[in-house]
Amino acid sequence: MAWPEFEARVKGGDTPVFMPIGSHEQHGLHLPLNTDCLVPTAFAERAAKEVGGVVVPTFVYGYKSQQKSGGGQHVPGTLSLDGATTIGQIKDIIKELARNGARRFVMMNGHYENQAYMVEAIDLALRELRWEGIRDARFVATNYWDFIDKPTIERIYPDGFLGAELEHAGVMETSMMLVLHPSLVRMDRVEDHKPASFPPYDVYPIKGELTPRQGSLSSPRKATKEKGEILLDVCTKGIVGAVRKELAKG
Ligand SMILES: [Zn+2]
Repeated sequence: MAWPEFEARVKGGDTPVFMPIGSHEQHGLHLPLNTDCLVPTAFAERAAKEVGGVVVPTFVYGYKSQQKSGGGQHVPGTLSLDGATTIGQIKDIIKELARNGARRFVMMNGHYENQAYMVEAIDLALRELRWEGIRDARFVATNYWDFIDKPTIERIYPDGFLGAELEHAGVMETSMMLVLHPSLVRMDRVEDHKPASFPPYDVYPIKGELTPRQGSLSSPRKATKEKGEILLDVCTKGIVGAVRKELAKG
């Protein structure tokens, strides 16, 4: 959009502004490095359509890949930001949007490791906006996977669910990508492998060999388009419901 449309939509503060936050991170042998950007961007677009929101450009880099949730920084292709940079870029754009009149923000995180940094960016932005006399900014912060309820988990994972962290490049992300960007998914490269197994503590520098060779933390073999449709549907409904409940006008 050009600036007159942006101004018309954002000024006044009623329009929910969706901010997808991704990463540039290896996603196994079969998914592209920008998977964590593509998925929350799709959720933002779907939800914004339902609630009359606008979607700002996706943050394409995120906080460092952690071994137990993203395989780790040692896998080629993973390009990450320091924590302070992650916080700073998100906070800056929140404040820029607020300066343009935005007051309702929907944070759409697509990368597990971003969570605390996204929250810190919101907190610092709220504090600095108060210093400027802006006290009516409101946020809904989402990680799309949090909307996957128990009945859905039972449908998608009849053999048991390993937890959202081990879903990195597993059935969940692969299934959604099969719906959203099938041409970017290389199912012919998928290897069935055991889920990653980690001790209940961390060591640094990390032991790279604990990450499965493929890069995915659990096998994506059972990913299907049908599962992707279910996941996209459940999470979109959840996000839309949250925005309607928490960011309604007035
Ligand atoms: Zn991911």
